[in-house]
Amino acid sequence: MRSASFRAAYLRRVLQHWFLDHARSFPWRSNRLGNYELTIAEILLQRTKAETVSSRYPSLLKRFPSWKRLAKARPHQLKAYLKPLGLWKRRSNTLLELAKAMSKRGYRLPRTRESIEALPGVGQYIANAILCQVYGQREPLLDVNMARLVERYFERRKLADLRDDPVLQSYGRKILPRTRIREFNWAVLDFASAVCRARNPKCAECPISRHCADYNRRLRKK
Ligand code: SF4
Repeated sequence: MRSASFRAAYLRRVLQHWFLDHARSFPWRSNRLGNYELTIAEILLQRTKAETVSSRYPSLLKRFPSWKRLAKARPHQLKAYLKPLGLWKRRSNTLLELAKAMSKRGYRLPRTRESIEALPGVGQYIANAILCQVYGQREPLLDVNMARLVERYFERRKLADLRDDPVLQSYGRKILPRTRIREFNWAVLDFASAVCRARNPKCAECPISRHCADYNRRLRKK
């Protein structure tokens, strides 16, 4: 099997090309959004399918179009908007706490990882999403979908928690391009959702199968 660097470059090239024809379109992928819209989307996307969030996101933004308006929302109003997404009590509390924390900061989003992660409801993944999508930094959107692809293509993780796993964290960064990082992260998420699926991955039609460790391991066993 070729070196990890070669295989990372191969995956990057193939997925960038694949994305041109297979990109999913979601309202939070617009270039015109600010930090408020992007952060709200990432909070809603936690443990919820993108298609489900997509059906509710525009009306939520219309009703609460800014940190300021969200900070002033009545809890029962917000809960009513979030109910169709599930986890609505927790999400509502998180969004209100976050909006109030932003209000105390004069609605200015912090710039460093440490201060972003200190905001209510913001863990490593959302901090990465903010650093990548708002500030253009080279950070992976390492969720269960990206983790699954990385683990199958390169090597198995060492730890259960992907936030601390050295294999996932290292390869998650290694595959990132130098430019258009946001789009590449979306390509990985879309590819993991459409091809390298959790159940029944489409290995027979996968464009990166020749360098996929898991696929080749299974071939050798046959
Ligand atoms: Fe995923 Fe199969 Fe492609 Fe490997 S060959 S990346 S397991 S779909």
